Amino acid sequence: MATMTLRGEVTELLQELIRVDTTNPPGNETRAAELLRDYLEDHGVACELYARVPERANLVARIPGRGSGPNLLLLSHTDVVLADPTEWQLDPFGGEVRSGEVWGRGALDMKGQVAAEAVAIASLAREGFEPSGDLIFAATADEEVGAGFGAQWLCEAHPEAVRADYCINEGGGDRFVLDGKACYACSTAEKMSAPFRLRVTGRSGHASMPNIADNALVKAAPLIEKLGAYRAERRLIPEVQAMLQIVTGEAPTSAEEALARARAISPVFADLVEPLLAMTLSPTMAIASQKRNVIPAVCDITVDSRLLPEQSPDEQQAIVREILGDGDYELEVLEAHGGSRSPFESPLWDTVEAFVAQAEPGARAVPACVAGFTDSHWFRQAFGTVAYGFFPARAMDVELMARLVHSADERVPVDDLELGVDWLRFAAQYMLGG
Ligand SMILES: [Zn+2]
Repeated sequence: MATMTLRGEVTELLQELIRVDTTNPPGNETRAAELLRDYLEDHGVACELYARVPERANLVARIPGRGSGPNLLLLSHTDVVLADPTEWQLDPFGGEVRSGEVWGRGALDMKGQVAAEAVAIASLAREGFEPSGDLIFAATADEEVGAGFGAQWLCEAHPEAVRADYCINEGGGDRFVLDGKACYACSTAEKMSAPFRLRVTGRSGHASMPNIADNALVKAAPLIEKLGAYRAERRLIPEVQAMLQIVTGEAPTSAEEALARARAISPVFADLVEPLLAMTLSPTMAIASQKRNVIPAVCDITVDSRLLPEQSPDEQQAIVREILGDGDYELEVLEAHGGSRSPFESPLWDTVEAFVAQAEPGARAVPACVAGFTDSHWFRQAFGTVAYGFFPARAMDVELMARLVHSADERVPVDDLELGVDWLRFAAQYMLGG
């Protein structure tokens, strides 16, 4: 019998996963869940599929614990975003390996981590690993759209299947060099996405007689300018404070000091730190009259806004009213997603630090707050889970990696897949091996 290395195993599994088109919408994640179930059951891991509709299954696999330890969940999603083959050098659903990289939609976001999590739990199972608490692997549907078929539904409808004390998810692990020190970012918090609509009202009329009307589009212009010019008061969040303490050896005491220190290290680092110190407001969409000769009575402006983890949409709305002052407008919060955090002092943090120290002597793990939204939020909210985004990546330039996510020619180095399997096996053994 030919023996396959973990490196070969994770590469092959990722290739197979990429070849299953799970573009969301519509998703069709059941085929990916079945592929994973076949693989895991071959290695003696018990699996269950949970589906709100038959074609959109979530897979949950588990090595039951001996009973005394915490539960550790390896979380991932199997859906991917649209790929336009004409923009790609290779077939986005071909799963080809070229120059040490696996190419295809989802290679980075996040079928690479799906494959690494599956290989980690399968390899531990066949080695006879007996964890102190449950080791759980969940590959969920519908992360990219979030229409209620994936993690959110699973936490509500089948909490017993996915309840966990600790969770390792996507959203971190990038390697940076700051001030000559290698750092791996581990996402422990997320900003809240809270877009809102500014509806400016006036009175319609024929465009040939502007004086008889009250043009909502023209009235919106100074309000848009005010929103665009606004710079929110900066606050020093604990993640940024700890990050700078680790990098510079000294904790900043104010947001201004944090930003100045980040600037001294590098302008690029300062650009990353700055949005983590304040709420952001970015007007992005405008709709007014649908006819050239009709003065609009209504102008709708959509404003993208990201809040700090402890801020609420109420606080945001109060600030926006203050910026705009009195006028003929209404505000409507369109949604409020995320904005959660886990403490970065935890056994899972110790595990991340221990792994980084072993994988690259001298390198440090640094906590990070991400501007985007991940499924970690549902687990923090439902079970108080300590959830981090951490999948170490060091073989590919961090800026290139950021550009390839959700874009053409997405690919992942096999070296990073192997490092990812090492990390997940390490985490399971470090946390549940006692
Ligand atoms: Zn993702």
